[in-house]
Amino acid sequence: MLPLVGHTTQRQALSTLVREERLPSSLLFAGMEGIGKHLVARELARQLLCQTSPVIPQGGCGECKPCKLFDSNNHPDIHTLTFGPDGASVDDIRQVLERLSLRAFMGTRKVAIFNNADSISMVGANCILKTLEEPRPENFFILIAANPSKLPSTMLSRCQRWFFDRLSEDEIRSVLLARGASEEEMALATLADGSVGALSTIRARIENADEITAVLDAAWRGDLARITRAAQEWGTEKTTLAERLTFLRMQIRQRLVTNASDAGAAAVWAHALQNTIDAEYVIIDRHVNPTLILLRVLQGCSHEYATGYRMTPNRYPTILEDLAL
Ligand SMILES: [Zn+2]
Repeated sequence: MLPLVGHTTQRQALSTLVREERLPSSLLFAGMEGIGKHLVARELARQLLCQTSPVIPQGGCGECKPCKLFDSNNHPDIHTLTFGPDGASVDDIRQVLERLSLRAFMGTRKVAIFNNADSISMVGANCILKTLEEPRPENFFILIAANPSKLPSTMLSRCQRWFFDRLSEDEIRSVLLARGASEEEMALATLADGSVGALSTIRARIENADEITAVLDAAWRGDLARITRAAQEWGTEKTTLAERLTFLRMQIRQRLVTNASDAGAAAVWAHALQNTIDAEYVIIDRHVNPTLILLRVLQGCSHEYATGYRMTPNRYPTILEDLAL
């Protein structure tokens, strides 16, 4: 199993519910991508399927036959579907639901894990809904979603919701350490924005990050020519826009942290951070011209504002205040 780090409170509470046989049959694990929700679901499933008695440890004993089968991905009573583009189909759902309607192969319990449940099609959701409405005591459903609000409310109301927070930098480092990451990769932990999953994207697009570092340096110097060029380039490259905005937000957050002791600089980066969050919203959800907004964000990163902030902290409106959206 991959290293499971953090989420101690939720994991202990879930484990206790299993031991006391009070675990609801349908659970929804909500929280951002890449923080280990699926791993927590696997840990819970292993405990549910473990046959050690009388007291099953959190995550199962790891020694009994079901645990061994589970670890080698051969346990017949755990079903995992992942939704999204090229993901599980309605037929896959039907197949899993059919298996859940039969007797367990080992023991009594069966577990279904639905990854990216917020990407289930309407038809798929309706299939599952019927099963959720008539729960059987031996079946457990764990739905995993970064955006639970995308799920039909009928489905949400059937599930007990568990929220998982972003990981701390230390937690991300310990995951990386366990995976044998290089020193360079370890340094990326600060950019991960609480998500181990974000690291693979980060690694793949590191050039992008370097470019953003250079542009933010230029923005701090007040190099209008450089930031205008960047805003134009980034604003017109629609395929990488969302990712660049994420990088921008991560890097600005980082600058805010490293400049915490300098009140003026910290105020500039705090304002810039709010601006990037606003920018993501107005560009992606409201389709406001990305070049203009990016320019606005980058202009706001100039050291020239630091003096102004020192004197009047709330003098500059954020993008949302400005656009009155
Ligand atoms: Zn076991």
